[in-house]
Amino acid sequence: MKQIPSIERSIAQPHKLAELRQAQKDWSTTPDVLTRLTQRLLTTLSLETQLGIVADELGGIVPFDSLNYRHRIARQDFIFASGLGGQHKCEYRLNLEGVSYGTLTLFRRRKFSDEELEGIETILGAAICPLRNACHYLTIEQAALTDSLTGIPNKRALDDTLLRASQLSDRHDECYSLILCDLDHFKSVNDNHGHVVGDHLLQETAEGIERTLRTSDSVYRFGGEEFAILLPHTSEQGARDVADRIRKAIKDILVDCGDGKLSVTASCGVATHLENEPPEHWLARADDALYHAKRQGRNCTRVFASIG
Ligand code: GH3
Ligand code: MG
Ligand code: MG
Repeated sequence: MKQIPSIERSIAQPHKLAELRQAQKDWSTTPDVLTRLTQRLLTTLSLETQLGIVADELGGIVPFDSLNYRHRIARQDFIFASGLGGQHKCEYRLNLEGVSYGTLTLFRRRKFSDEELEGIETILGAAICPLRNACHYLTIEQAALTDSLTGIPNKRALDDTLLRASQLSDRHDECYSLILCDLDHFKSVNDNHGHVVGDHLLQETAEGIERTLRTSDSVYRFGGEEFAILLPHTSEQGARDVADRIRKAIKDILVDCGDGKLSVTASCGVATHLENEPPEHWLARADDALYHAKRQGRNCTRVFASIG
């Protein structure tokens, strides 16, 4: 007798299968707006693409002039904007289980009616889970490109950026310069004052370099006590000046090490991108210039081209 329920379950139920077949047909041929929205959102984990889909589907239900989305992910502001203008706005904080996944704002010349607001909320309610997944994905992606000690981009991020910079430099015939900056005798900082002080000095160095740069420049933790700085639209002479400013900023950092203040110097190697040069050659030339700066006494800047 105990076997009967499992025998019953093992027999296919024709009306259920017919229902499933019909559901599949509706799902793929004539999906309702919410089904279509979730189907489209499921095809991507890109937050930008998902927001484009939400804007597109929302626009089909409630016309609007512009849509803005803003969220802070891994120390960076993620901003998405579509369309222009509109003096009336409705704003939604996208929260799920007590966690914020950004703020979405719609603008329009005409006021939004209560019925329209209800429609917008229904669409956002269906989109929030895929949007949360895209936010998580972006967080993980950012973490893979970020150095955990200093919070600046890591060597992997530099590899991507150098490739893009080499291509842009060739295409637009513009100067791109690279600086490699290595702290001098850093091993003795750890040996004499411990790793906690060493780590603190590395964090201060990253902040000090960032403060020295323009917003279009970028800094990367290239190795243990080595940083790479990419300077778009910067000639060899300009990059040498920036390298000297960076060295001064590092020298001016004073870290409390219990029995007084500690400071370090840095050496820099500079290389300006050559026509059709692969990124690894460019990097190798900056490294060569850095090697010469070390060989020639440290606490100085050397440019690849000027090495005799
Ligand atoms: P040089 O002037 O030739 O560059 O000498 P250096 O001592 O700076 O270079 P070396 O390559 O001999 O040593 C680098 C040191 O950097 C050794 C290592 O313990 C330290 N270091 C690397 N990464 C970290 C880190 O994340 N934290 C700390 N505290 N120290 C680090
Ligand atoms: Mg060093
Ligand atoms: Mg080093």
